[in-house]
Amino acid sequence: MKTFDVVVIGAGPGGYVAAIRCAQLGLKTACVDKWQDDTGKAVLGGTCLNVGCIPSKALLESSHHYHNLKHNFAAHGISVTGAKLDLATMQKRRETIIGNLGQGIAGLLRKNKVTSLCGHARLLPQNQVEISLADGTKETLQAKNIIIATGSTPVEIPSAPLNGDTIVDSSGALTFTRVPKRLGIVGAGVIGLELGSVWSRLGSEVVLLEALDTFLPAADQQVAAGLRKSLTAQGLDIRLGARVSGTRKKGKKVTVTYSDAKGEQKLDFDRLVVAVGRRPVTDQLGADEIVLERDQTGRIPVNAQGQSNLPGIYAIGDATAGPMLAHKASEEGVAVAEAIAGQASKIDHDCIPGVIYTHPELAWVGETEESLKAAGTKYRKGSFPYLASGRAQGAGETEGMVKILADSQTDRILGVHIFGAQASELIAEAVTAMEFSASAEDLARTIHAHPTLAETLHEAALAVDGRAIHF
Ligand code: FAD
Ligand code: AMP
Repeated sequence: MKTFDVVVIGAGPGGYVAAIRCAQLGLKTACVDKWQDDTGKAVLGGTCLNVGCIPSKALLESSHHYHNLKHNFAAHGISVTGAKLDLATMQKRRETIIGNLGQGIAGLLRKNKVTSLCGHARLLPQNQVEISLADGTKETLQAKNIIIATGSTPVEIPSAPLNGDTIVDSSGALTFTRVPKRLGIVGAGVIGLELGSVWSRLGSEVVLLEALDTFLPAADQQVAAGLRKSLTAQGLDIRLGARVSGTRKKGKKVTVTYSDAKGEQKLDFDRLVVAVGRRPVTDQLGADEIVLERDQTGRIPVNAQGQSNLPGIYAIGDATAGPMLAHKASEEGVAVAEAIAGQASKIDHDCIPGVIYTHPELAWVGETEESLKAAGTKYRKGSFPYLASGRAQGAGETEGMVKILADSQTDRILGVHIFGAQASELIAEAVTAMEFSASAEDLARTIHAHPTLAETLHEAALAVDGRAIHF
C-alpha cells in the first residue's frame, strides 16, 4: 500500500492549492479527484475552473465587449456597422481558457511532485483512502493526514427538475449554443445575476424570480439598491417575493408557475436556469464505520486549524462553513497545510472579500450598515460617488459609489462597499487595509495615484471625517 503524509480529496481551488502547499512544506502528498471529461481524461480545477468562476468570467468579459460595441462605443466617437455575435467562437474561447488553466494545474502538481490520481475517493478506518479508479479497479492509500476538499454542487428543487434541455443549472447555462429568446432564472443571487447579465447582454429577455423580498440580503443594502437599479435599467426583470412552485414542459418551451403577493402567476420561457444556491458534497464520503460529523446543511464542522471531529482529517472550502468562494477555499487550503506541517497558521474569516461580477461590479469586505446596526456598533461612514472621479469620467464609468464604515471611537475600518467599475480590483486595497487593522485616517493619508478609480476609496476615507475634497 502506498503511504502519504497527506492525501487531499478534491482538486478544486481548495484541494490543489492545499496539495501544492503541503508539497512545498516537504510533505509527501497525493491529490485525488473524480472529475473526468467526455473522453475519460482527468479534469483538474474543480467547480471554479470548469463550471464556475473562470468560465462565467470569460463569458461576462466577452458579452461585456459585445454590449459596449452595440451601446457604448458610439459615445467615444467609434461607430461600427455590421457587428455580429459569433457565439460558437465565444464558447470556444471559454473552453480554451479552461483547457489552458487545467494544464497549468497539472503542471504545477507535477512540478511540486504531488501524485495526482483520478478516481472517486472514500474514507476507510485508520486514515486509509480507497480510490475507485476510472478503469473499475480500486487502490487504497495510507495517509497520515487527509484533507477533504470535495466542494459543492448546485441545489436542485423539486418544482424545477433539471432536464438538460429547457431546464438547466448554472453549468448548463454556461454552455448554451444559442441565445435563448426568453430566459428565466430561478434565484437572484450572485450566480443568477452574473448568468442573467451574460445572456441579457447577448440578447435574451431575462426574468429573475427570487423568493425573498430582499435583494441580496447579505450585501450592504445601499449598494445593493444601486446594483438593482442599474441591472433593471439594463433590461433585467428582477422580481422579488416570487417563489417558483412548478414547471411544465410545453413543446420546446417551459412554463413556470410562481407565487407572489398578487397570487399565482405563470410565465413561458425558452430556457430556465435554476440558480438557487449550492450544497456541499460531503455524502458518500466514507465507509459506514467513519463517523464524520456534518451539520444540518451537510457541511463539515472544523476547528480553527481546519480539523474535523476525526483525528488527522481536515476539511476546507465549500465543504465547510462560510461563504462558498474560491479564494476562501484556497486560503483555508494553505492554512491547513501549514497546520499539518506544524506551523501556526490561520485565516481571518472576517476579511474575506465578496464580488458580484455584473457591470458595474459589486464588491465588499467586512461589516454592512445593517450588520453594524444589528450589533449596536457605533460607526461613522464616508462615501464618494464615481461621478466625481476624473478617471471614471474619462472611462465613461460614472455609475457607482464607494462607502467606508469605520468605528466611531477608534476609526478602525469595519467594512468597505464598492459598487462601480473595477470594484473587484479596488476591493483588494480595502482588504489589505483591514488586514492591517487600518483606520479610515490611515487610508485618508495614503497617497493615491491620479487619475485612478482608487482615488474614490481615498476620498471616501476622507469623507468619514467630513473632509472629502472633490465632493
Ligand atoms: P470545488 O471547486 O467544488 O472542487 C471540489 C472537487 O472535489 C471537484 O473537482 C470534485 O470532482 C471533487 N470531488 C468531490 N467528491 C469527491 C470524491 N469523493 N472523490 C474524489 N473527488 C471528489 N467563487 C469565487 O470566489 N469567485 C467567483 O467569481 C465565483 N463564480 C462562480 C460562478 C459559478 C457559476 C459557480 C457555480 C461558482 C462560482 N464560485 C465563485 C464558487 C467557487 O467555484 C467555489 O467556491 C469553489 O470552486 C470551491 O472550491 P472547493 O475547492 O471547495 O470545491
Ligand atoms: P445564492 O444562494 O446566492 O446562490 O442565491 C440563491 C437564491 O435563490 C436565494 O436568494 C434564494 O432565496 C432563491 N431561491 C431558492 N428557492 C427558490 C424558489 N423556489 N423560487 C425562487 N427563488 C428561490
